[in-house]
Amino acid sequence: MAMAKVLLRFPENLVGKPITAQIILEHKVPINIITANITSKGGEFLAEIPDAALETVIKAFRKKGLIVTLPKLIEIDKEECFSCGACITICPVEALTFDNDFSLVFTKEKCLGSTCSACIDACPAKAINSNG
Ligand code: SF4
Ligand code: SF4
Repeated sequence: MAMAKVLLRFPENLVGKPITAQIILEHKVPINIITANITSKGGEFLAEIPDAALETVIKAFRKKGLIVTLPKLIEIDKEECFSCGACITICPVEALTFDNDFSLVFTKEKCLGSTCSACIDACPAKAINSNG
């Protein structure tokens, strides 16, 4: 099943409300929560939603007061990269790998985007930037 990643932000008054569970039940759709950063003041979480239900689910979250965006991914400046491997080591989802000639390969479908950004800080050459 093809899944799309979306970033969901919610304000203080929605903390603790079972909104995701309600949407899963109402629309009979599996929603996979990948990362979450929630405090008593509000929060955000990154979720995977099946492509086929994406539009319906985004509308349902927005109707309940959440802000829904697509996560910003990263961009690699291949001219600056000197193949040190620091970003590969730190990436939690193996979105960065080397190919046979030690050229960096980015698999955007795996990337957690702006909810992670670990590789941006790890790169000594400042070769990785947030895209957008
Ligand atoms: S932003 Fe995070 S998940 Fe994406 S490539 Fe960098 S370290 Fe990996
Ligand atoms: S950390 Fe920077 S220099 Fe090292 S492999 Fe990754 S992009 Fe290239």
